[in-house]
Amino acid sequence: MYDVAIIGAGPAGASAAIFTAKAGKRTVMFDSQQSVTRRAWIQNHYGIDDIKGPDMVDRGKQQAARLGAEVVEARVNDIQRSADGFTLLTDGGSYQARAVIFATGLWADLAEHIGLRTKPATEPRIKTVIDVDANGKTNIDGIWAAGTVAGVSVHTIVTAGDGARVAINLLSEMNGTRYVDHDVMPKE
Ligand SMILES: Cc1cc2nc3c(=O)[nH]c(=O)nc-3n(C[C@H](O)[C@H](O)[C@H](O)COP(=O)(O)OP(=O)(O)OC[C@H]3O[C@@H](n4cnc5c(N)ncnc54)[C@H](O)[C@@H]3O)c2cc1C
Repeated sequence: MYDVAIIGAGPAGASAAIFTAKAGKRTVMFDSQQSVTRRAWIQNHYGIDDIKGPDMVDRGKQQAARLGAEVVEARVNDIQRSADGFTLLTDGGSYQARAVIFATGLWADLAEHIGLRTKPATEPRIKTVIDVDANGKTNIDGIWAAGTVAGVSVHTIVTAGDGARVAINLLSEMNGTRYVDHDVMPKE
């Protein structure tokens, strides 16, 4: 049983996995390798002069894995409620998790398939997004959403930031106290 299953390993998903894995939560992250970020050449991401999209996506997955997340290159095809959470049915078998974060980018098909409330998007070139509350919660308790599929501006600094924000809200709910992840510079 995983504490958190994340669907999508683009900036939003991998950023969420970095936080949940670093917080000591058993984290599994699935990806079907269709990130549109792979087509980007990013020169407007704070703190990074410029980076090619494929490098950003690969680096994000590696960082999440280094912090303890399990990265599974598989498509999630269905999600069913189970006694203590959810069963995720993927191309690579089924997995159990207590909570789920959708970070599926342009794709809202799985969300609609399992009954998540969606709505027309307002960002350019985006069709449908998942209807979330201010914390990133959907209409199904235990399922959250972040990034492009949650309706935020389609820029890596924003989608990565939203993935982190929603992960922190989920961690705070799981831990019953507001979560903070600060590392301090070692004394010289
Ligand atoms: C041509 C182009 C240029 C761009 N240039 C810039 C730029 O210069 N600066 C900038 O800030 N942003 C730019 N962007 C936007 C940015 O790259 C991303 O769109 C944004 O960050 C999206 O992040 P995301 O994590 O929400 O989605 P994505 O990065 O698209 O990740 C979603 C992931 O979910 C996976 N997925 C979906 N459904 C499933 C499923 N059922 N099971 C498993 N996995 C699933 C997909 O395979 C994908 O890997 C550009 C985008 C494009 C297309």
